[in-house]
Amino acid sequence: MSSFTNSTNPVIERDVVVIGAGPSGLMAARTLKNKGLSVAVLEARDRVGGRTWSGKVKDAAGVEHFVELGGQWISPDQTRLLELVDELGLETFQRYREGKSIYVSPDGTRHEYEGTTFPASDKTIAEMERLISIMDQLAAEMDPANPWAHPRAQELDSISFRKWLEQLSDDAEAIDNVSIYVASGMLTKPSYAFSTLQAVLMAASAGSFSNLVDEDFILDRRVVGGMQRVSLTLAEELGEDVFLGTPVRELHWAQVDPATADELNNVKADVRNGVEGNGQPGEVVAYSDQVTVKARYAVLAVPPNLYNRISFVPPMPRDQLIAHQHISMGLVIKVHAIYDTPFWREEGLSGTGFGGGRLVQEVYDNTNYGKNFAHSREGEEDTYGTLVGFVSDVYAEQMWHLPEEERKERILDAMADYLGPKTKEPIAFYLSDMAAEEWTRGAYATSYDLGGLSRWGHLQNQPTGPIYYACSDIAAEGYQHVDGAIRQGEMAALAIAEKG
Ligand SMILES: Cc1cc2nc3c(=O)[nH]c(=O)nc-3n(C[C@H](O)[C@H](O)[C@H](O)COP(=O)(O)OP(=O)(O)OC[C@H]3O[C@@H](n4cnc5c(N)ncnc54)[C@H](O)[C@@H]3O)c2cc1C
Repeated sequence: MSSFTNSTNPVIERDVVVIGAGPSGLMAARTLKNKGLSVAVLEARDRVGGRTWSGKVKDAAGVEHFVELGGQWISPDQTRLLELVDELGLETFQRYREGKSIYVSPDGTRHEYEGTTFPASDKTIAEMERLISIMDQLAAEMDPANPWAHPRAQELDSISFRKWLEQLSDDAEAIDNVSIYVASGMLTKPSYAFSTLQAVLMAASAGSFSNLVDEDFILDRRVVGGMQRVSLTLAEELGEDVFLGTPVRELHWAQVDPATADELNNVKADVRNGVEGNGQPGEVVAYSDQVTVKARYAVLAVPPNLYNRISFVPPMPRDQLIAHQHISMGLVIKVHAIYDTPFWREEGLSGTGFGGGRLVQEVYDNTNYGKNFAHSREGEEDTYGTLVGFVSDVYAEQMWHLPEEERKERILDAMADYLGPKTKEPIAFYLSDMAAEEWTRGAYATSYDLGGLSRWGHLQNQPTGPIYYACSDIAAEGYQHVDGAIRQGEMAALAIAEKG
């Protein structure tokens, strides 16, 4: 018995307790309610939205600027999210992309170019195209809902993406440029730290590897007022069924199996072998800091790296206890730099810059549009210009260990390699730090270690007793994206509603 079971918190009863009020949990709750089931959504933070979050940064004149600290872009294939945005009465706008982009090659030379092909040597471009077409072929063979069923799953999961690319090519520049689309660009882990199968899943989830390469596709639109508005609007609809500041600490979910008791070694009975009837209703009790919810089902709508922050009573079956340890968050710093105007546009530049292997490997125009809580007007673009840049994995670690001023200088210097010296003088500057957020612990999302996806992935969407899982990080379409979160939440809810 824990202190929570003796707590004096109010006890409420619902059909389903949803743990986590990110886009996935809120979509699950909305769908369940629409199907006539009662819900309570317990959210650890004092806000909804999870990894989508509208923030502010103040300039020296005291003006507050709007920044999206987490997820923001929607690509055209993310149709469930686009539909939902519409259903919720929200609007989207397109990322600015007029003018030339910049490519900085490994020797530091800056090239301006148009279109999506890097101005690298013919040999490197040909090599990139060859590698991309091999990835496209593998992605076409994969069902993103069952990557472990790919005929070469085990083989592709046993080699890091980096090593695999090195076996295919000796052109380091081509390898750097191709690997960033998945490594720093998506999984935010070094390309030697995840498998080729994991890379193919990312491509298959987006429709093809070529889609990942096309920034006009991947980073197409944003929600006016910020992506968090999707969650805020869903939460508004749900009203008093959403409980903020209520981290779930303990979840009672099953009866133990007496056959597992081992008196000789003083091992108490547990559910090590799993339970009968996964997905069937049961007796669930969620203990949080402020409220206790008794329910027939639970939807665990938190990123998988946080499953083990909850004490499951009894402990989960051994498969889950092991599998969950093979999933970890990536690490990336999202850099926000605000300027009086989008000065790069006056120079005929789109604001887009790439450079594989560099401190800041990507930079984009992220100027806001429409009404947000900073200085802005309905139907108009903000007059201030905003750049967003990304510092991924090992570079992010290096940067967090520097003194604040030096960190800022290094990052702005790296961004200036693309867009020139004016980049070094923003009127406001902010770094998103989801790594320091207790209820996230990294960015953008979680992925498996080498070999983990083929070994354990098949468990990630199977309910455990009355517990269903929902999160972008276990999605097929929209994997690691808000669209995947929405799809997973809806899917878990529909599966529960079908059981009744
Ligand atoms: C910096 C950054 C940039 C990104 N960019 C993009 C982008 O451009 N486009 C895109 O589509 N996606 C992007 N993403 C990813 C996107 O934000 C996520 O895929 C999405 O938010 C996942 O939604 P979710 O509901 O599955 O999980 P989350 O958003 O993580 O929500 C989970 C919720 O569970 C809560 N929680 C955790 N543990 C507990 C507990 N024990 N009890 C109660 N509550 C708990 C958390 O507080 C959180 O609110 C980005 C993410 C980051 C961090």
